[in-house]
Amino acid sequence: IRNVSKIYENAGHKLTVLDQINFSIQTGTTVAITGPSGSGKTTLLGLCAGLDRSSSGTVSLNGIDLDHLTEDERAAVRNRYVGFIFQNFQLLPTLTALENVMVPLELRGERNIKKHALDLLDKVGLADRSGHYPVQLSGGEQQRVSLARAFSNQPAILFADEPTGNLDAETSDKVIKLLFDLNKEAGTTLVIVTHDLDLAAKTNRMIKLKGGVVVADLELNHA
Ligand code: ATP
Repeated sequence: IRNVSKIYENAGHKLTVLDQINFSIQTGTTVAITGPSGSGKTTLLGLCAGLDRSSSGTVSLNGIDLDHLTEDERAAVRNRYVGFIFQNFQLLPTLTALENVMVPLELRGERNIKKHALDLLDKVGLADRSGHYPVQLSGGEQQRVSLARAFSNQPAILFADEPTGNLDAETSDKVIKLLFDLNKEAGTTLVIVTHDLDLAAKTNRMIKLKGGVVVADLELNHA
């Protein structure tokens, strides 16, 4: 991320949400992005993941400069490298848990997608809920389906927006373990927006935003 700014324009009024942000994240590391509500965390995550475009500056992922790509090209980069866990899960309401996990596999033209999707649901402890629609799942279960979907393309980098936000302590611990196991076993880079300082303390690095600027960037030593 180099000199990245994001300005929203509403009814002629300009709002600078991110102001000249700079950092780079090393492959295979875990990073927490923290900061008060409205400080720009979700916006920053969306830019890093190629879901949205910056107003100025450069965002590159695995050496690919995202700013000069078309929407379709950015979607292709996301399919190839990126997993994303949204703050409000964003499961498709008309599809079952299994079908939600199958969508990205289908998009990638994989074969045996049903078996693969069931394996992923099994991994998050939800094999017995595969036929349930999102409304028939608890918040924690929806979050775990969203995790299984985000893992499905074996992403090099996983972005998670408040992955434990609405979960009870026990489910939250399960979700955190799944994320960090993925980092340990597959080397997946994790970038996690969180208000949870216990979760942030488990990462290698904490980047703190305030009013759209980085106010702290700390390496965390777990030795
Ligand atoms: P929270 O912790 O509450 O989720 P955040 O740090 O993730 O907050 P963002 O969601 O990135 O903050 O929002 C940063 C600022 O940008 C907020 O003031 C918000 O109102 C504004 N904002 C976000 N999206 C838009 C948009 N599409 N148009 C205009 N303003 C927006």
